[in-house]
Amino acid sequence: MIYLDNHATTRCDDRVIAAMLPWLTTNYGNPHSTSHAMGRDAWEIVAECTASLAELLGNPSTDLIVTSGATESNNLAIKGVCLHPRQKRRKIVSVATEHPAVLDVLDQLKPQGFRIEILPVVPVGQVDAGTVDLNALEETVDDDTALVSVMWANNEMGAIAPMKRVAQICHQHGTLLHSDATQAVGRIPLDMLAADVDLLSASAHKFYGPKGVGLLAVGNPNRRVRLLPQIVGGGQQGNLRSGTVAPAGVIAIVTAMQISLAQLSVESSRIRKLRDQLAKNLFSQIEGLELNGPELDSPYRLPGNLNVSHPRIEGETWMSAAADIAFSSGSACSSVDPEPSHVILALGKSETEARRSVRFGIGRFNTDTEIEQAANILIAAQQRMMS
Ligand code: PMP
Repeated sequence: MIYLDNHATTRCDDRVIAAMLPWLTTNYGNPHSTSHAMGRDAWEIVAECTASLAELLGNPSTDLIVTSGATESNNLAIKGVCLHPRQKRRKIVSVATEHPAVLDVLDQLKPQGFRIEILPVVPVGQVDAGTVDLNALEETVDDDTALVSVMWANNEMGAIAPMKRVAQICHQHGTLLHSDATQAVGRIPLDMLAADVDLLSASAHKFYGPKGVGLLAVGNPNRRVRLLPQIVGGGQQGNLRSGTVAPAGVIAIVTAMQISLAQLSVESSRIRKLRDQLAKNLFSQIEGLELNGPELDSPYRLPGNLNVSHPRIEGETWMSAAADIAFSSGSACSSVDPEPSHVILALGKSETEARRSVRFGIGRFNTDTEIEQAANILIAAQQRMMS
């Protein structure tokens, strides 16, 4: 199997597993058991790791909440801000291309008296195609807007949002900004404080850590954020997210982030080359293949992302004909959903084009040879399906 689905998840790096092991075997104390040394050791490592995470995100004084992943982080950010008893504002603004872990949360809030505004994205043909339409954002955010949620990088067509500009627009109205940075952390340079983002979600398994651990960074020195906890119980993590924190998970996410950031520029240029090689092979052999999202050389596109629509066959058909390659149509989270991708539709593409779209995510462990082989298999597979 050649794995080209690194937006869905990534292989856990061996160095991350090695860092986790002692906290599952010898040092397995509960970090909230302060009555003995094993518990205190576990607490110390958790505190050290959360401080490092905040620093790695460029926001040393942010409150770092450890969660089970970006879905939980997005739920806590959005519901936490909007449902806080002191929240008086009643509008929430987001974007048509967001992940369901944002859009479905907003749907849940509608019956609770919130007005939800979903913004369009810049159309195809512009350098920032697929990113939030800033004019629409400016027109929509007002003094009744509690929260704006804009993803840092898109999981399907790799568009990278101009977060600094988004933040300026929000803060003119005293509106908080949340960013689902699940696809951005560890893949592009990211500085939460420089971008002036107030809440940030991430998930370790997108940058070579394990599944089941994520984070929500809350607040920065410029702005105070009040959150209503969504999971209550033992009062851990400042009562913002009850439940025993898993030291092995926390060590894993910080190690994964340290590794990714240490090799970010070298790794991303290698990954970009592989992505461009795959694109070149596919475009030269498949007449009428269309790129979805920003141009490949646009600074607004993730280096490892390729999203294309085939001129004649559906993504599902192509995938089943090239079963030795792991790639996807739509996002993994909505692949059970027979509907065409809402992200590709938001780019102004037709339903047919959306059904013919496929996504490739190139990652750390892909090699030149794999890309070469994958291109050959993909080209041969679609030829078979058309003949
Ligand atoms: N947001 C984005 C942009 C994602 O790509 C994903 C994972 N597909 C999530 C949120 C949810 O992450 P998790 O499944 O780790 O909760």
